[in-house]
Parts: sequence; C-alpha cells; structure tokens
Amino acid sequence: MDALRRTKIVATLGPATDDQATLVAMIRAGVDGVRINCSHGTRNDFIRRAWQARDAAATAGRHVAIMFDLQGPKIRLHESSRRADLDQGDTVRIVGDPKASGATGALVVDWPGVVDAADPGTSELVIGDGAPRIAIAERTKGALMGTCVIPGTALPRKGAFLTHAQVRSMALTDKDRQDVRTALDAGADFIALSFVNGADDIRELRGEILGSSARIIAKIETLSAIQHLDEIVDAADAVMVARGDLGVEAGVSRVPLLQKQIIQAANERGRMVITATQMLESMIDAPEPTRAEASDVANAVIDGTSCVMLSGETAVGHYPIETIQQMAEIALDAQDGVTPVVVEGGAASGDGRTTAESVMRAAVLLAREIKAAALVIPTATGGSVRAAARFRPRRPILALCNDGEVARQLALEWGVIPEPLHQRPEEPIEALVERCLMRAQRRLSLPDGARVVLTSGPQVATPGATSLIAVHRLGSSA
Ligand code: PEP
Repeated sequence: MDALRRTKIVATLGPATDDQATLVAMIRAGVDGVRINCSHGTRNDFIRRAWQARDAAATAGRHVAIMFDLQGPKIRLHESSRRADLDQGDTVRIVGDPKASGATGALVVDWPGVVDAADPGTSELVIGDGAPRIAIAERTKGALMGTCVIPGTALPRKGAFLTHAQVRSMALTDKDRQDVRTALDAGADFIALSFVNGADDIRELRGEILGSSARIIAKIETLSAIQHLDEIVDAADAVMVARGDLGVEAGVSRVPLLQKQIIQAANERGRMVITATQMLESMIDAPEPTRAEASDVANAVIDGTSCVMLSGETAVGHYPIETIQQMAEIALDAQDGVTPVVVEGGAASGDGRTTAESVMRAAVLLAREIKAAALVIPTATGGSVRAAARFRPRRPILALCNDGEVARQLALEWGVIPEPLHQRPEEPIEALVERCLMRAQRRLSLPDGARVVLTSGPQVATPGATSLIAVHRLGSSA
C-alpha cells in the first residue's frame, strides 16, 4: 500500500477542472473532496459539476465528498456609488441609500442597513480585498462618517465588508436558500455556511435541510464567529478556517493564531476542520509552490487540521493537477509532526466524552499498544469512525461503510480510509466481522498474521451501538 496521507485535500471546482480528464487526474493525485463555490455560476453549473465529480470519482475508484459552499450575504458598493481614490486620512461619507448620496457624493453601499449595523469607533468598511479600508468614526443622520486608514480606489460594484456588524444573523440569504435546494437536488454531502455569526445560523440551516443527511460546515470568517466559537463548533458538524474573509475582518496579521485557535477548538470537540484559502496561491500561475506556501500547508497539518483546501489554484489555475500533487506530498511529509491526542491524554481527555468516544479511545490505545496494523470499524452513520479520528491515531482507520454517502463524508475525516461494505440487519455479527476482516486484509494489502483492532456493536448496522473491541489476527485463523 502507498504511504497513507492522513490529512485530506479539498479542491474547488471551476473552469480549470471542467475538463473531465483533468478532474480524474486530480482525484487520482489525491483529491478527497470537491467544493462547488456558489458565489460563481448558475444552478446548472453547480449540478453539472457535482455530476462530473461523481463520474470522475467513479472512474478514479475513489470516494470523493461533494461540498456546496453557500455565498452568504455579500455586500457591494452600489452601482451609483462614486469612484473614489482615497488616501490615508481622507474623510469619507458612507450611506446605504443612493438618494442620500448628496451633492458631494458619498460611498453608497448596496445595503440599506449599513448605517444602523455599523459600530462607530470599532467597525471598518473594507472594500475589495482590503483596500481601501475606512474606519467608521461616527453615525450622523442617515450616514456614517469615517477616515481612510488604508488607501485605495473604491469603484462601483466592488465587494464591501463591514467589520463588527451589529446584526443578529445575516447568514442565510434568499440566494443561499435556492442554492441549498440545488445542493440537496445534487446530493451534496456537505453544505458550508458563510459568515456564520453564532449557533443560531447553524440551526437555521439545519432547519432548511431537515430530512437530508448532508453535514454542515460552519465557515469561521467573522469576529463574531470567533467570539462564539465554542457554541458554533458544538452546533455544526465541521468548521472551516476561511482565511480570506477572516483576514479582511480581523486583519491579516491575526490569521495565523486565529487558525490555531479554531483548529484547536474543533479538535477538542472532535469536529472535522478544513483550513482554506491561499494555501498554494502562487501555483495558479507556476508549477511549483513557494517555500513559504509549503511551510503554510505543513503548519496547518501540524496544527491538526483534518483537511487543507484549494480555491483559485484548482478552480482557475494553470496547474490544477500539479497543485494537488504538491499538496499531497507536503501533507504526507508533514504528518509526523501531528501529535496523537490519545498519547497525550490532553485535549480529548476531558469530561463530556460520549460512550462511543470512550470506546474508540480505548480501541485506539489498544491498537497502539499491540502495534496493530489498522483499526477496522464497520459503521452505519460514521459516528464511531469520527470518534476514533479525533484521537489522531497513527494506525490507519478503515471505515467499512453501510452506504455511499457515509463513505463520501468520511473521506474528509483525518486518517480515515472509507470503504463501502453493505451490512445486512439480519446478518449475525460473527459473519459481519468475518467479512470485515477479509475486506481489511484485501483493502490494506495486509499479510497473513497481521493483527487489527476491530470495533462493533452487539448487532449489525445499529447506529450508536459500538461497544465491543476485539483483536483479530488476519489470515486463515481470522
Ligand atoms: C474564505 O473567505 O477564505 C473562503 C473560503 O470563503 P470564500 O472563498 O467564499 O470567500
């Protein structure tokens, strides 16, 4: 078996991946999940790309998760807004209504609520990718007055961002609701929610997808999300360190430590975590990453991220296949720096652990102690597998999944090899164990005599019932 890369790779789809042969090659090179960015394209594009990804995954013989990433509330400067070349120290008037622009011309934000939502003295209006940046000093009648702190040119229709916006929830827009329906029609495995402010946003999306088993990823990209990090991590199924917008809101210099804080919060609660944006940015135009980018990917791996994500590098880049190859190599080489949580006891040893997690921790410890070749986990919902992954075991986790969707969702979990294995409810547990061992030996190319640790419940395909741990020797005596 090839060396097992524990950290998973998510690639954003776009024009550069529309060629099917390219997509198949990317998946063969190591893509574990694809992201459909709902900020770009139409419903038809999204559905077509989801199906292309499914086809390509089948051709490559790999389980690939499909993620729909909702755009969230994007604010822009209004088309009637004036062009403004702003220097540091310039005074700027900002309105949310074109009619209030006045004779001298104000910056008009295409959001009537902007004046009320700003927190003068704290909020900043950020245009484009960070310049110009205007510190809001005061609210006057129907307008905001601010001072330019980072110079730049404000153009009509440019993206805008209000930091520290005083709004309860802006996370799910009408467009997002339409895109959620498209995601469900396309059989998305994950839906990522942008600009999450608190756990209520997650609950709102959960209500929207009731009846579906798609899992929710909370994108952490606002200071409000940082303030409510623990409750968001608890409410969501996974989180994303969305470094692009987080850098805009918090300032680029704060991103590295915030990344560590978010990954740690997710690891402590056993939630999958994706680190995203500009990881190998220079590879949009070059076949090799910079040394700084290689270090960035490696550091995210060492921080304990479950996945690293590519955006423009694969969506519109000139070297999408090479980018995946480079990312896979860097992640593989860096993984010895990941601390197995179970050895330390530390982060995952607190109270509040579920029974499944305690069983899995014991299984991981046992596998380590007897130097087992793998952990083998038949699973109905993936819960026991996720519980094992949180301890970051050195042994591969072979997840034998009752259905394809669970296999695709587990493809993004750290250290997990997903493999479908249909479990028949009437099958005696001994027969299932026998089939699991045969499949493990074949899938992991293990020699006769190798030992594995296998967990199961007293009955087949019963979610949440994992309570048995056994050591098995593979081969004729298995
Ligand atoms: C980000 O901001 O880093 C991100 C992943 O979100 P988007 O690409 O939607 O801006």
